[in-house]
Amino acid sequence: MDASTVTPPLSDAARAFLDAPERQRLLIGEERREAADGRTFDSLDPATGQPIARVPQAGAADVDAAVRAARAAFESGPWATLPAADRGRLLTRLAGLVADHAEELAELESLDNGKPVKLARVVDVAQTVAHFEYFAGWPTKIEGDVVPVRVPDTLCYTLREPVGVCGQIIPWNFPLLMAAWKVAPALAAGCTVVLKPAEQTPLTALRLGELALEAGIPPGVVNVVTGDGETGAALVDHPGVDKIAFTGSTVVGREIGAKAGRALKRVTLELGGKSPSIILPDADLDAAVKGSFQAIYFNTGQACNAGSRLFVPRESFDQVVGALADRARAARLGPGLAPDTQLGPLVSEDQLRRVTGYIEAGREEGAELVVGGGVPDGANGGYFVEPTLFAATSDDLRIAREEIFGPVLVALPYESVEEVAERANDSEYGLAAGVWTRSLASAHRLASLLRAGSIYINQWGMSDPAAPFGGYKASGIGREHGHAGLDAYLETKTVWATLR
Ligand code: NAP
Ligand code: MG
Repeated sequence: MDASTVTPPLSDAARAFLDAPERQRLLIGEERREAADGRTFDSLDPATGQPIARVPQAGAADVDAAVRAARAAFESGPWATLPAADRGRLLTRLAGLVADHAEELAELESLDNGKPVKLARVVDVAQTVAHFEYFAGWPTKIEGDVVPVRVPDTLCYTLREPVGVCGQIIPWNFPLLMAAWKVAPALAAGCTVVLKPAEQTPLTALRLGELALEAGIPPGVVNVVTGDGETGAALVDHPGVDKIAFTGSTVVGREIGAKAGRALKRVTLELGGKSPSIILPDADLDAAVKGSFQAIYFNTGQACNAGSRLFVPRESFDQVVGALADRARAARLGPGLAPDTQLGPLVSEDQLRRVTGYIEAGREEGAELVVGGGVPDGANGGYFVEPTLFAATSDDLRIAREEIFGPVLVALPYESVEEVAERANDSEYGLAAGVWTRSLASAHRLASLLRAGSIYINQWGMSDPAAPFGGYKASGIGREHGHAGLDAYLETKTVWATLR
């Protein structure tokens, strides 16, 4: 690979954002602030390891100020009394502004996260627009019911009301899109938010905060606090936060869930996965190989729903593994901003250490390293790792059980369809699962047997703002997107009136 590949210059708009430190401050109400104690940290370009921006490290005092701003906007600001149609209109306007700034946002995302700019454009930014557009339609459709109770001379009805101030903590793998998954339904429901982006990728969340104000969303409705896990913990612990929405690791998710349980705060958790993809003997093998390749190596394997365990019939195992290895060898690694890059770097040095540690563990445990496994020549200080494929016969290896969150696939042969569903389900996780087959009956039979929140049939990773997404088992609690995603930001109030 050649990580020093000349990348095209950034657009004027992206450059202008990077060159304006005052636009990279905390967003609290309509103010841009330094952290109260003046602490800062650098966000790095994963393709070089070099700093690209210095942002505030928000502490408990800053989180408190942001929560107060959100509370004020929720209770007494114009947001509190805004007609539903106007709320929808503002979300539509925000969707339009994100679309207008698509190139700038895609470049900032690519630079901050490392992902190919093309992917940022067609997935991250396009889906962000789609989310705001979709949720813009909801405010005017949030309705209660009249309940036919058995008590005479009584009117009983329900109101759906916003939960309140929401603390939203997001990861670095799809920074802008994860912000949209959280902010769009919250605002549609009438909530206000304090958003904490991941320390590795703070830039597009800060830019989204600016665009929200530009759209006319009242100050205090969207607040953005940059920082690390401590900042996130301060948000979770703050008594003024009514609901926590989190996407990230299962370890942190468990901790947040426990805290929310004690405080009886509303909580939704979108956590990790070790998702099985099953090729059945009658599958279109070309399509299955192509799809399985995308399922794991998309976004350099940094996707919670990555297809990281591939079950292949014993008789086609060598053919499938060989075809995947050919594709992996041909994949072009490089900086996200280089136009022909297919796989960008991992997001950080920590992730590089974690992923190469798992590759080492795979070797030590005796899995066969078919392709990849190393840091490519010419990495130039960037956090690159080769797309890696292991062939293994045991489901008990660490690389076959634990979430790696990198471009590492484990292919496992199986003998019978009866056996494979059981093995696929033998995981603490249950985020996604897939099946490749030409048989309708097998496809739907497995869809029913597999214990996972999303099932992909002859495709992988499809997503839409209308289609619920979330995990079974240790992959999370609650659903995002669609009706269910909106419900997570609403309370139900039952009103009883005596009509005598
Ligand atoms: P993480 O620690 O769970 O981080 C996710 C978010 O939570 C970040 O904003 C993080 O802040 C924040 N956070 C960390 N500790 C917290 C705490 N005690 N209380 C409240 N918020 C806290 O994930 P990570 O360290 O970035 O990645 C580690 C592993 O998590 C990955 O290798 C992968 O397995 C998994 N992961 C899963 C997803 C997913 O989509 N399900 C996404 C990312 C990572 P800072 O990052 O700023 O410290
Ligand atoms: Mg960064």
